[in-house]
Amino acid sequence: MRLKGKNILITGGASGIGLASVERCLQEGSQVVLTDLANSGGEAAAAALAKSHGGRCRFMPADVSSSEQVDRLILDAAKTMGSLDGVFNNAGIAGMAPADSYPDEDYLRVIDINLNGVFRVARASLRQMYNQGSGSLVNCASILGVFGQSMTAAYSAAKGGVVNLTRTLALESAAKGVRVNALAPGYIDTPLLSLLDDATRQALIQMHPIGRLGRAEEVANVALFLLSDEASFVTGANFVVDGGFTAGKS
Ligand code: NAD
Repeated sequence: MRLKGKNILITGGASGIGLASVERCLQEGSQVVLTDLANSGGEAAAAALAKSHGGRCRFMPADVSSSEQVDRLILDAAKTMGSLDGVFNNAGIAGMAPADSYPDEDYLRVIDINLNGVFRVARASLRQMYNQGSGSLVNCASILGVFGQSMTAAYSAAKGGVVNLTRTLALESAAKGVRVNALAPGYIDTPLLSLLDDATRQALIQMHPIGRLGRAEEVANVALFLLSDEASFVTGANFVVDGGFTAGKS
């Protein structure tokens, strides 16, 4: 039980990497607040998981593009669970368009959820964790936070921002008993990739030396490690979970 006694909150918990992380944290003994958009299916997912894990999972809806909703969420989660020991700042959306015709509204939406949303959740979580004198914050970046890729101007800018935001937050919080890390998944087989056609999917598989896309649980396992006390000397890091994608070309 690597998270026994811990109280964890996971954003974007209704689907993909977030949902797999909720499950892994429950398996390792923590209480979990699964948070996501009100219409995400998170309520039903949390109810099913609560049933199989002794009532240790609950749903709290929030939109990470609203500071007001995020501030309330963090206060409510800490109050309900008794503390906030770990936060996986995972909610995010995809977005693809050539830079020279990227519509304002689409560009700003990706930045507002994938970068500003991570900041909003981090800010509110750090307030709580500083009061406690402890905590672990894990931000979900991407290999596109360290590599560029055509058609991903907004997404890669946001994820690059998450990587460097993580470093700064780690520096601010290190003396306060709080660790802040990022993880950078390669392409993971989740609903986020549902719009890809077969040819693109095959091309993406070829980019991963391991020869397949990743599974949500494989990212969840790294989030779990970073949330746990096993990572007690790890802060300011960006862990790639990418089947060798960023190792180079063979
Ligand atoms: P997903 O689409 O399966 O899940 C994302 C979740 O975020 C959804 O449940 C969605 O409802 C929620 N969400 C979206 N907007 C939100 C908002 N405004 N407020 C609250 N919740 C919101 O996607 P996933 O693949 O599990 O992605 C999870 C994270 O991993 C994202 O940050 C994504 O950028 C990152 N990531 C994914 C991949 C991949 O290939 N799947 C690769 C690298 C990074």
